[in-house]
Amino acid sequence: MSEKVLRIVPLGGLGEIGKNMMSIEYGNNILIVDTGIMFPENDMLGIDYIIPDFQYLLDKRDLIRAIIVTHGHEDHTGAISHVLQQINVPIYATPLTRGLLEVKLARGRLLHSAQLNTIQAGETLRIGPFTVEFFHVCHSIPDGVGLGITTPAGLIVHSGDYKFDHTPVDNWPTDYAKLGEFAGRGVLALLADSTNADKPGWTPSERVIDAAFDAAFQGAPGRIIVATFASLISRMEQAARAAQKVQRKMAFVGTSMTENARMARKLGYLDLPDDLIVPLDQALRMPDSKIVLMSTGSQGEPSSILGRLSTGQNRQFDLQSGDTVILSSHPIPGNEETVYRTINRLFKRGANVIYEPIAPVHVSGHASQEEMKLLMHLVKPKFFIPIHGELRHLKQHASLAQEVGIPSENIAVVENGQMIEFHDGELALGERVPGGYVFVDGSGVGDVDHRVMREREMLSRDGVVLVNLMLDRQTGYLLGDPEVISRGFIYEQDAGEVLAATVMHIINSLEGHNGNLQKELEQSVKTFLYNETGRRPYVFVTLTHA
Ligand SMILES: [Zn+2]
Ligand SMILES: [Zn+2]
Repeated sequence: MSEKVLRIVPLGGLGEIGKNMMSIEYGNNILIVDTGIMFPENDMLGIDYIIPDFQYLLDKRDLIRAIIVTHGHEDHTGAISHVLQQINVPIYATPLTRGLLEVKLARGRLLHSAQLNTIQAGETLRIGPFTVEFFHVCHSIPDGVGLGITTPAGLIVHSGDYKFDHTPVDNWPTDYAKLGEFAGRGVLALLADSTNADKPGWTPSERVIDAAFDAAFQGAPGRIIVATFASLISRMEQAARAAQKVQRKMAFVGTSMTENARMARKLGYLDLPDDLIVPLDQALRMPDSKIVLMSTGSQGEPSSILGRLSTGQNRQFDLQSGDTVILSSHPIPGNEETVYRTINRLFKRGANVIYEPIAPVHVSGHASQEEMKLLMHLVKPKFFIPIHGELRHLKQHASLAQEVGIPSENIAVVENGQMIEFHDGELALGERVPGGYVFVDGSGVGDVDHRVMREREMLSRDGVVLVNLMLDRQTGYLLGDPEVISRGFIYEQDAGEVLAATVMHIINSLEGHNGNLQKELEQSVKTFLYNETGRRPYVFVTLTHA
C-alpha cells in the first residue's frame, strides 16, 4: 500500500439494500465499518442469507485495526461471526449495538474470543492514523451512530443509517451540532445513506405512529397482536404506551423479540413499567380485551409467529375472530408478495388486519430527500459518495447532491468492489476488487454458487426428469428400455406420451454414439423435451452396468 493515499473500499451495500460493509484504509492501517447480511430474494431458493465477499481483506489481515459497527440492524451486524472467524480484531459499538452483537456471537460460540469495546455517541477514539468521532443519529433502532473519521488525508463523514426526527420516541435527536462542527473543520468526503433517495419530502417522525396505535387499540374488540421487527425497540415502547392507555397488559412472543426486549430494558433503552409486562402464558389466560401481544413476523416469514398464525400452525395459541393484527413495518423490497399473502391469510382466519397504507402504523427509519439535502448543507463536503442503496437510489442521491451545488465531478457513484482513492485532496477511482455475494445456507458458507442457484431455479420452475440406462458391462449395449421418471415437469395425462417419446429418442440417440454418454444424453434429452413441451426440466442421467 503506497503512503499518503486514503482508500475507501465498499464491500457491500453499494448497489443493493443490505450486507453493508466498508474498508477504510490509510498507509498500513485498515478500519472495517459494519459487517452486515442481506436476506435472499424470492428466486434465491434455499438460501438463508447472504454475506459480503470479504476475500480481499484476508490478504491484508495484519493491517486491520478494528471493526466499527454503526447500529444493531442485521444489514450492519449479521455477518459479524463470519468476519470474526477470519479477522479477530477489536470491535467498537455503542451499548445496545454491542448487546445485540453479543447475542449473535454467543450463538456462534465466539463471545469468549471476541474483543468487544463499548463506545458512546459523542466519544472520540484514536485507532492508528484514524481519529474516529461517534455522533448520534436517529434511526429505527436506538443508539445508532454516524462516524467522523479524521485521517491524514482529510475528514470523512459516514452517516450510518439516519433520519432527522425532531421528536423521536427516545427523545434523542440526531447530533446536528456535531455535523455543523465537522463542516467548520472542512470535510473531504461525505458518505451518506441513500435508502430513501427516491422519496420526496421528509420522513415523518416516529410520533405519528402514536395516534394510529391509539385509534387501532381503542377500536379493537379482542386481542391485539402487534407484529414488527425484533430490533424495533422504539415500536415496543409505543405499543406499550398505547396498551397502558386502554388498560391492557403486554406480552412478548418469540425468542428474538423477548431477548431483545429484555436486553434493551436492562441497558435502559426500553422504558416499560414492570406491572405492564406479563409472561405469555399468563396473558393467554386473561380476557381477550385485556392483552396486547408483541410478535415478529411482519415480513410474512413462514417460520415466524405471524407466519405460523396465518396458517394455523402456531403452537402456543391460534388466531381467533375478533383478533386485531397490526403490521408495524414495511415489506422489505422483494418481500411484498409474501407479506400480502400473509395478510390475506390472516383476514381469512377471521382477524382484522391493520397495515400501511390503511393506517400510518409504520414510518421509515431512513432520511427522505429533504433530509438528505439538509445533511449535505450541514456537512458541506468537497466530495460526495452515496452509500446504502440500489444503483437507482445511489443515482437519485447523486442528483440531489448536484441540486444542492456539489459539482458532478465531485460525486462518485460506485458499486461494491470499486475502490475510491484520495490523493492530495483529489478523488480518483482505484482498482476493482471482488464485491459479490457469498451465499449461506443450511449446509454452510459459500458452498452454493450462482450455478447451484440456477439449478435450483430450474428445478423449481420446470421440474426434473430422471433417466436410468441399464447397460451390458461387456458390450455396452442397452439392456431393456431406458427408465424415465419425471417430477414436477408435466401433467399426468400428458406424461405417458411425452415420456414414451423420450424413451424412443434415447434409444435412437444411443446408436453410433461416442464420447461421454451421460453428458451427451442429458443435453440431447433436454433439447428434445424443450422442443416437445417448451419447458426446460432438470435432466439427470444415470448409467447402471450389469
Ligand atoms: Zn438500519
Ligand atoms: Zn441499513
